[in-house]
Amino acid sequence: MLNIVIFGPPGSGKGTQSENLIKTYQLEHVSTGDLLRHEISTNTQLGALAKKHMDKGELVPDEVIIGMIDSFLDKCSTTAKGVIFDGFPRTVAQAEALNDLLKTYNTEVAVTLNLEVPEDELITRLIERGKTSGRSDDNLDTIKSRLDVYNKQTKPVLDFYKKLGKVADIKGVGSIDAIFADIKQAVDSAK
Ligand code: AMP
Repeated sequence: MLNIVIFGPPGSGKGTQSENLIKTYQLEHVSTGDLLRHEISTNTQLGALAKKHMDKGELVPDEVIIGMIDSFLDKCSTTAKGVIFDGFPRTVAQAEALNDLLKTYNTEVAVTLNLEVPEDELITRLIERGKTSGRSDDNLDTIKSRLDVYNKQTKPVLDFYKKLGKVADIKGVGSIDAIFADIKQAVDSAK
């Protein structure tokens, strides 16, 4: 299996580049943010819990997220050529859990694509996205909390994968196609 973590701060282009990865490599895709928004829009208990955290720009508890990934893998593992993990893992505990889960399927993360975008550019992009996304967390206050959470809780995940020699740094500024060309090169050399 070709398992890819697409990693980076909010607004770094993870969703956009995931679409390119899906088209090019025919992989399964899981975005924990999308799964949580689905829970919210279908008014589930999990959605109500998640919304409280998401509206403040905080992370949803690890056990909730890991449970979602566990059932996702359960559903797709027999047929999948690989999985793109988008917005997950966001804590070291999640990264460790992902390693353990993948081990049970005799597979592992092939590469973590680290999209690098300066913070002022991220804020501009997210404010712009907020005009059409309908996302209640795309407002300046919540954006600032999300970036703070990224720096404190999520960035350490990079060190986790660096120690395993599985990080490819990608300059996340420029045209979508040029960024994807770098991504493709990184994925092809990790295969
Ligand atoms: P995203 O769509 O990836 O930007 O995620 C939106 C929000 O969902 C985040 O700000 C978190 O509150 C929550 N979320 C998404 N993925 C995770 C995760 N892996 N761990 C914890 N919270 C998450």
